[in-house]
Amino acid sequence: QRAKTCGLGRFCFFSEELQRSALELSLEEDLRIAIERNQLRLHYQPQVCFSDGRLRGVEALARWSHPRLGDISPARFVVLAEQCGLIDALGRWVLREACRQLADWRRRGLAVPAISINLSPSNFHDPGLPATIAHMLAQHGLRPGELMLEITESVLMDTTPAFLKILREVHELGVLLSMDDFGTGFSSLSHLHRLPVQELKLDRSFVFDLEHDGASRTLSDAVLHLGESLQLSVVAEGIETEAQRRILMQLGYQVGQGYLFSAPLPSAELESWLASRSA
Ligand code: C2E
Ligand code: MG
Ligand code: MG
Ligand code: MG
Repeated sequence: QRAKTCGLGRFCFFSEELQRSALELSLEEDLRIAIERNQLRLHYQPQVCFSDGRLRGVEALARWSHPRLGDISPARFVVLAEQCGLIDALGRWVLREACRQLADWRRRGLAVPAISINLSPSNFHDPGLPATIAHMLAQHGLRPGELMLEITESVLMDTTPAFLKILREVHELGVLLSMDDFGTGFSSLSHLHRLPVQELKLDRSFVFDLEHDGASRTLSDAVLHLGESLQLSVVAEGIETEAQRRILMQLGYQVGQGYLFSAPLPSAELESWLASRSA
């Protein structure tokens, strides 16, 4: 009796696993095709100066609308790409598309000063990354200072010489580096000042609680001072309310992004957003 139940249970478990991995496998294949056929999209979220509303730049965020399954979040497909060896291809696609878009805005006289893209820490294990970046910038006639690469704080754990070499080569191109989701990782701060980073992005979990939680305010304050003392710019993300913006300004923050200003938008909608503001 026991053995039979157990057997049945195992059978169910096994077949569920099989189904799941079959789904994952076909998703991996779909992602590979989507990257190859240029079916991913970038959305752009404005980064705004608090004092005068000036646009400092935009962050590009990848979007995948699956033909059958609908929208799949980047949190999910980035992990998938990491698992199945597509992360370098994804990183290259994002770089190429972001550079193409910024150059297109330039040509058409649209005032987008800079673009930030997200790269995964594993992209910094690709020795070809610096050359790819240099190539994209040259191809689109962009200055390196117009491109910022966001990487999550977990890179602070990676102190291998190979990783640091690639990071330094990227820095030497003149491209800027930003530490995304700052304050959530378990990073060693002593390592931070040795990395060629120019920006910290205060994680949105701190911003979320600013109005109600004194500890979030204290930590946001600490991140700003840390950034300032290392001469880094500090950007707050996930700003949804006027009250959050007010508190951030009181703390001394000058730049931020979030739904309060705009959600990430397809390029055409970002252009309308820009036009409606200058009107
Ligand atoms: P992230 O880089 O920290 O991006 C911020 C996330 O917060 C985005 O989610 C954005 O849509 C969302 N967001 C923006 N404003 C607000 C707000 O006011 N409130 C709230 N609640 N959320 C806001 P998204 O687009 O789903 O991206 C999630 C994460 O996926 C990103 O976090 C980034 O780590 C990763 N990601 C996105 N695009 C790419 C990419 O092209 N390559 C890589 N490697 N990672 C990417
Ligand atoms: Mg980011
Ligand atoms: Mg972030
Ligand atoms: Mg994030």
